[in-house]
Formats: sequence, structure tokens, C-alpha cells
Amino acid sequence: CGIVGITGKENAVDILLNGLERLEYRGYDSAGIYVNDQNGKEYLVKEKGRIADLKKEITSDVHGTTGIGHTRWATHGIPSKENAHPHVSADGRYYLVHNGVIGNFAQLKEEYLQDVNFVSDTDTEVIVQLIAKFAQKGLSTKEAFKKTLTLIDDSSSYSFLLVDHEEPDTLYVAKNKSPLLIGIGAGFNVVCSDAIAMLDQTHDFVELVDGEIVVVKPQSVTIENMEGNQINRKPFHVDTDA
Ligand code: GLU
Repeated sequence: CGIVGITGKENAVDILLNGLERLEYRGYDSAGIYVNDQNGKEYLVKEKGRIADLKKEITSDVHGTTGIGHTRWATHGIPSKENAHPHVSADGRYYLVHNGVIGNFAQLKEEYLQDVNFVSDTDTEVIVQLIAKFAQKGLSTKEAFKKTLTLIDDSSSYSFLLVDHEEPDTLYVAKNKSPLLIGIGAGFNVVCSDAIAMLDQTHDFVELVDGEIVVVKPQSVTIENMEGNQINRKPFHVDTDA
């Protein structure tokens, strides 16, 4: 339902939680965050209910400079802690948040993931397990993500934000029929499904187009199409004085 992400800023936890609170107006049934501190520590916290309920679960040791967050409006699987995002692959390598619906998730699960233990009933978990499976077969994260995107059918809608804990300052981003923006900062960058979530951080946003893969690091944003060609797109400025 709502997505936020950040890389390259000390207080990622607060920025993600504030962002999720700004998205509360959209309605949701559960929420969660994943953060990584770039020094080998990472935290996954999810809860059913309001952001206030999630905040109660976030102890003072939870910290990081890169992270992703999500408010969920359940489409597959009841509202519960297990079904809340971010979802993690069985090998613990990949963390994913997702807005939207994967039309052919059951077929993908049947065809590729019969040997994988699932912990949720969501369509989303199929995607993170699929990325991990292709990475285990030797693909880079970007190639595994791309291959997974090509297997998702046209009826589907998504915006995805993916973190590989072996490359913890990087956000992998893609969307189809679901809005997603990259917010440009100085020494950091953010991602959000609605600019309102990140206006405290930046007023300069780049709009994403369906069929692009974006690699977001603290100092760079690289947009590529499926053929691997790099795309240059200027940010637009959101004026909030009016
Ligand atoms: N289809 C996903 C789920 O049910 C994502 C729903 C959403 O957009 O919040 O978990």
C-alpha cells in the first residue's frame, strides 16, 4: 500500500517511520521496516496494526543507514505479523517490500519454488524467494531481479524495493502500474510511493516508468531499461509553499 526507502543517512529508522506515518492516510492493516547499519548489523521489525504499534516493537538498538519500510493493505493472506512486509528470502539474503498484486504468484511458486519453505501466505514472498533462487544459481542481484520481473505476468501490478544484505547500501527498485518516486538528496537518496512521505528530506524527485530497473546508492541513482540501456531523467521540484 505504502512504500518508503532510504540509503546514506544516519537516522534511517526515524526517517522510515516518519515516512510511513505520512502515508497513514491511505489506510493499511500492518507495517514493517528493515534497516542495515553497514557494519554487519541488520534489523527486521514488523507488526499488525498501526505505526504506533510498530514503534512499540522498535527497541533502542535498532539502527541503520539504509532501509526499507511498508504499510500493507492485504490482498493475499490475512493481516498478520507473518504476512507483513518486508519479506525475507529463506537464505536470509534478500529483503523486499511490495505494493500491488502478483497475478501469477501461485504458478511461479509451483514451477520454481517447490523446495522452499514459505513463512507467509503472500504473493510478495514468492518474488523474494525467486530472486534468491536465481542468485543462488549464480546471477548477480540485478540480473536475478530482472529475470524475476520478466516472469511476472501482465495482469500484475507492483512497486518493489529490494535490499541484498551482501550489498547493504544499495536499493534495487522497479515498478509496474504502481507509482514510485526516487527522491534526490545530498549524500543520500530516498524512494517513496508518494512524495508526501519524504518532503522532510528532499523536494527533488525523479519519476519512474514501468519496465525500468533503478539502482539507488547514497551517491548515485542509475536508471536502466530492460535492454540494459542507461536512461537520464531530470528530477522535478515539488513546491510546498503554495
Ligand atoms: N499483495 C501484497 C500483500 O498482500 C501487497 C499488498 C499491498 O499493496 O499492500 O501482501
